Amino acid sequence: MSARVLSGKELAASIRSEATGQAAGLAAAGTPAKLAVVVATADESSAWYVRSIARAAEKSGIVCEIVDLGAEADPALIRDRLASLSADDTVHGIILQTPLPQGARLEDLAGAIAFEKDVDGANPLSLGRLAAGLPAFAPATAEAVVAILDHHGIDLAGRHVAVVGRSTVVGKPAAHLLLDRNATVTVCHSRTRDLAAVTSAADVVVAAVGRAGLITAEHVRPGAVVVDVGTNPTEDGGLVGDVDAVAVADSAGALTPVPGGVGPVTTALLLRHTVHAADRARTR
Ligand code: NAP
Repeated sequence: MSARVLSGKELAASIRSEATGQAAGLAAAGTPAKLAVVVATADESSAWYVRSIARAAEKSGIVCEIVDLGAEADPALIRDRLASLSADDTVHGIILQTPLPQGARLEDLAGAIAFEKDVDGANPLSLGRLAAGLPAFAPATAEAVVAILDHHGIDLAGRHVAVVGRSTVVGKPAAHLLLDRNATVTVCHSRTRDLAAVTSAADVVVAAVGRAGLITAEHVRPGAVVVDVGTNPTEDGGLVGDVDAVAVADSAGALTPVPGGVGPVTTALLLRHTVHAADRARTR
C-alpha cells in the first residue's frame, strides 16, 4: 500500500485567489490591505519563510512591509515597534517572526500586537479566546492542519488525534482546534514516555516538532493519516519534515508532503486573515 498524498497546493491556491479578490475590493475602496512582518533574527530558514510570505502577499495585492530590527534587537525595541504598528491605521495585520533574540520570548512580546491585527494568533488574548471557543485569529499553521484535513475530506469527529509538539505557535492551538472538531486529542512532547506507543494508537498523527525523521513506521499504525508540520532545512538547501516519509509511506493511509503540504496553506491563511482584518477595520 502507498499513502495518499495530501497536497496543500490546491487548497492554498483557492484561499489565495479568494484573498486576491477581497484585496482588490479593499484597494478599490481606498484601503489597501497591509501586512507588517517584524523580524529580529539572522536565521536563514526564517528569512526564506518571510520572503515567501512577502512574495505571496504582493501577488495577492496585499502590501507587505518587512520590519527588520536586526538579530541583536532588544525586547523593548521589539515591543515598541509592535505597539507603533498596532497604532498605525494603514497596517491591518502584524506578524512577529521567530526565532527571537536571546532573552526575548514570543509569549511576552506578542501582547503588544493589537488583538484585531493579530493575524497569526500570537497574542495571549487570541490564544485564550481560541481555547475558550471565542472568535479570534488562530495561529495560521495550526489552522492549516485542520484546513488540509477538511480539504481532503478527512473526518475528525470522534477520531483519536496525537499531536506531537506543544508549542504555543503550533501544537497547543492545533490541539484546541482539533478538540473543537470533536476529535479525541492527545498532546505529546519531549517528556512523553514511549512516543511510538502513543502515536501508533492514533487515527491521525500531527507532527510539529522540528526534527527530521522523528516519526518513523513504528509511530504510525497501518492506515493512519499523518500531517507533517515540520520544516527542517537540509544540507543541500532543501526542506524535509518531521516524518520519515519513505518509511511511513507503505503503512500510512495518507500523508502531507514537505514541501507542498501545510506550508503553502499556512501562508495562504495569513493572507486571508489579513484581508479579513482590513475589511473589519474599514467597516469599524
Ligand atoms: P518548538 O517551539 O521548538 O516546539 C517543538 C515541540 O516539539 C516542543 O513542544 C517539544 O517538546 C517537542 N519535542 C521536541 N523533541 C521531541 C521529541 N523527541 N519527541 C516528542 N516531542 C518533542 O517548534 P514549533 O515552533 O512548534 O515548530 C515545530 C515545527 O513546525 C518546526 O519544524 C517548524 O519549523 C515547523 N513550522 C512549520 C510551519 C509551516 O508553515 N509549515 C509553521 C511554523 C512552524 P517540549 O515542549 O517538551 O520541549
